[in-house]
Amino acid sequence: MTPPPTEGVLYIVSAPSGAGKTSLVKALLKNDPAIRLSVSYTTRAPRPGETDGRDYHFVSRDDFGRMLAEGEFLEHAEVYGNFYGTSKGSISRDLNAGHDILLEIDWQGATQVRTHFPRCASIFILPPSFSALRTRLAGRGQDSEEVIERRLAAAAHDVAHADAFDYIIVNDDFDHALQDLVSITRSIRLETARQMNRYAALFDEFRRI
Ligand code: GDP
Ligand code: ADP
Ligand code: 5GP
Repeated sequence: MTPPPTEGVLYIVSAPSGAGKTSLVKALLKNDPAIRLSVSYTTRAPRPGETDGRDYHFVSRDDFGRMLAEGEFLEHAEVYGNFYGTSKGSISRDLNAGHDILLEIDWQGATQVRTHFPRCASIFILPPSFSALRTRLAGRGQDSEEVIERRLAAAAHDVAHADAFDYIIVNDDFDHALQDLVSITRSIRLETARQMNRYAALFDEFRRI
């Protein structure tokens, strides 16, 4: 008989804007399609190249407010002047079925999610320096000067919350940072409770000897 699945891992990835969070998460998920990315709702306008339903569900402030009033969000926050929220959707059901889920959310959202899912694994991404953050935000070429300045102004406050996270990765060399992220997911999968479940038949064999 197959044992019931161990609950999936809920990953939270946070970073100051421009640290490389989205690039790292995309690269992780390319090699690890077992992790499901939760697509957030936002009142921010789409950037060039962003697709509704893939990068975000882009909604009006009215619609966001309606969803909030109807209790549809697991967490929500105002970040850099826009509203962002994670739909409750099927998160609990998916975790109970053994699926891993990744949330790309800010530190305020991370605080809220930890109260609901204390066993989540939270990861904070740091840029190698403040000037690198400025260079990356400018280099991304998708935000106005005003938006970039607003995000840079919030960086110190964002970084001040890094100590609440389980892991910290410095995204200096991209491939190195990606390997750090992969190492976290691999070591979590080797935890005893998960391995005992995955290798139940092997443990059974030794019990029968
Ligand atoms: P980027 O992080 O520079 O790519 O800019 P975005 O506009 O995509 O995101 C701005 C901030 O909002 C980031 O700190 C995200 O982590 C955060 N964010 C995105 N989605 C959510 C969400 O569903 N909930 C919360 N609380 N924050 C979110
Ligand atoms: P975030 O999602 O945290 O705002 P992005 O993933 O959009 O950050 O990255 C911001 C910019 O920095 C992008 O143009 C990306 O290509 C670039 N970038 C990401 N990681 C690195 C790195 N290690 N070195 C140099 N540039 C990077
Ligand atoms: P395997 O057990 O053969 O290593 O992995 C089978 C699939 O399940 C892979 O796609 C892998 O990424 C995924 N997987 C491995 N460990 C876990 C886990 O602990 N939880 C969940 N939800 N998926 C896992």
